[in-house]
Amino acid sequence: MNVFRILLLCSAVLVFSGCGKARFDGAKAMAETEALVKISPRDAGGGGARRASVQLESRLKALGLKTAIDTFSEDTPSGKMHFNNVLGRIPGKTNRLIVLASHFDTKSGISKDFQGANDSGSSSGILMELARVLKKRGPLETEFLIAFLDGEECRKEYGPHEGLHGSRHLAQQIYDAGGAKLVKAVIVIDMVGDRDLNISIPRNSSPELVKELFYAAHELGVRPKFSLGPGSILDDHVPFLLAGMPVVDVIDFDYGSAPGLNDYWHTPKDTLDKLSVKSLQTVGDVVMRMVENLQ
Ligand SMILES: [Zn+2]
Repeated sequence: MNVFRILLLCSAVLVFSGCGKARFDGAKAMAETEALVKISPRDAGGGGARRASVQLESRLKALGLKTAIDTFSEDTPSGKMHFNNVLGRIPGKTNRLIVLASHFDTKSGISKDFQGANDSGSSSGILMELARVLKKRGPLETEFLIAFLDGEECRKEYGPHEGLHGSRHLAQQIYDAGGAKLVKAVIVIDMVGDRDLNISIPRNSSPELVKELFYAAHELGVRPKFSLGPGSILDDHVPFLLAGMPVVDVIDFDYGSAPGLNDYWHTPKDTLDKLSVKSLQTVGDVVMRMVENLQ
């Protein structure tokens, strides 16, 4: 067999096996998480969050996305604060839009080197890896907006002027531009790297997207790791919901040394050693399958 025939055979195998398709890689998502967590802490309004926003934008650029850092300021109970949402676009064949979002700021006042490895490193790592895969796969039917959101965490208490700054700002922008009706789905990811993965979807998510998420998990054989939570929660999905967009919040809000304790959450124990590549892989695969099914 000559070299030409071998090459031809190899490319045929690649086409038939689908090996040529970019696939979500949990190890790459972990590497992205580690790169972000090197900047610790990332409190909104501080130097860490600003440096993180610059780093995230340069990573998106390196992946070939059109990017922007959207800087805005708001009056908060702690005074006027500046926030930086990092946005990347992957064009689609239609004007329908899927928004994939994760916050990247950390809760303030935990410790001077607070990592926030799970909250918000894990979801940010997954989001960056999703951006890589979707860019390689694109253009798909829908356009994708990759949104790294600032200011999710509140300083004292959530309120109209505290917490959820980045998501409220982006949801308002989409709404004001008349884009809410073009949004097919907003998928918010938060706290998804825990070794003991138990995704518990808050009830104030859109039922049609919860169904799509559970179906994707079922198709991939990981449905037992996904369930409907006991109630509603306040997270970055809420501003999109209030602006009339279909949204689901993919969150594992049980992060601790034993089930129900949640003793790693918002403590100095939220460190990289608590995370697992397998959990990042599971969540990344399910979100990828879900957005494929939504095309
Ligand atoms: Zn948090």
